Amino acid sequence: MTAKLIDGKAFAATIRGRVADHVARLKEEHDLTPGLAVVLVGEDPASQVYVRSKGKQTKEAGMASFEHKLPVDADQETLLKLINDLNNDPEVHGILVQLPLPSHMDSSLVINAIAPEKDVDGFHVINAGRLATGQDAMVPCTPLGCLMMLRDHHGDLSGMNAVVLGRSNIVGKPMAQLLLGESCTVTIAHSRTRDLADVVRQADVVVAAVGRPEMVPGDWIKPGATVIDVGINRIQDGEKTRLVGDVEFDSCAEVAGAITPVPGGVGPMTIACLLANTVTAACRANGLAAPE
Ligand code: NDP
Repeated sequence: MTAKLIDGKAFAATIRGRVADHVARLKEEHDLTPGLAVVLVGEDPASQVYVRSKGKQTKEAGMASFEHKLPVDADQETLLKLINDLNNDPEVHGILVQLPLPSHMDSSLVINAIAPEKDVDGFHVINAGRLATGQDAMVPCTPLGCLMMLRDHHGDLSGMNAVVLGRSNIVGKPMAQLLLGESCTVTIAHSRTRDLADVVRQADVVVAAVGRPEMVPGDWIKPGATVIDVGINRIQDGEKTRLVGDVEFDSCAEVAGAITPVPGGVGPMTIACLLANTVTAACRANGLAAPE
């Protein structure tokens, strides 16, 4: 392997430490405890793991964690009523509805019912619009984590060619907006992109968020490029299962200048950014300066 490994796990631990320090100061100086409410509908095993992990890390950072579980057949009105209650609860500064929702619910409608200033996932249409127009926004946690790693590694990203693989509302599109905000020249690739390998070969920065195990081989990567792998795919490996990303790690690491591993790259950064967004929301709600 010739690429530098971008250690998201260690970076996330540093961010969590900063968040915990900030939370302690808010308590001491302003008697304010940031609170995050996480809502889970149904019993999807992966979602349960994420929700548990978010709750644990929220508490470890000294914040208040509120977990709300609804049965898989809960009606949408019940969920909307819960969101309304959380919107009006002064102890709750951030609200996260774990996706995916059961198919009888309208995800956009539910997400847009969250007060934009408490939308710590940054999925509300107001926050998406603010991000797209360069205004202060709650930024989606996964792309924010990717950007922090890129900034940490490169410093200035201005003028770089960035290719974002995937155009979802939760990763691809906001990632592209953030990179544009850094003055990168941004290409968004997706399932209809022609000559994908050639497109990716132009990139100084590749962010892969397609949800296809090890789709990007090393010979698509420009020598020295930075590769951020958002993918989380569970594959069968003999008797066991293991997690792999959207890029073929070994072959890409031979060519890239820097690369994130899976696990231990983007994943831990996502939750750390969620905690940071919750502190930001708590500060803004109380007229205090948000952390940098
Ligand atoms: P979506 O399924 O919503 O979007 C996938 C995107 O990839 C789509 O835009 C799709 O194109 C594109 N795509 C699919 N197949 C191809 C292909 N063969 N060639 C080019 N583009 C393709 O996924 P998400 O954005 O929600 O997630 C992407 C990955 O990131 C998943 O592995 C997910 O588990 C992971 N993830 C990780 C997080 C973390 O914390 N690390 C958080 C969120 C997601 P089209 O639009 O044309 O269909």
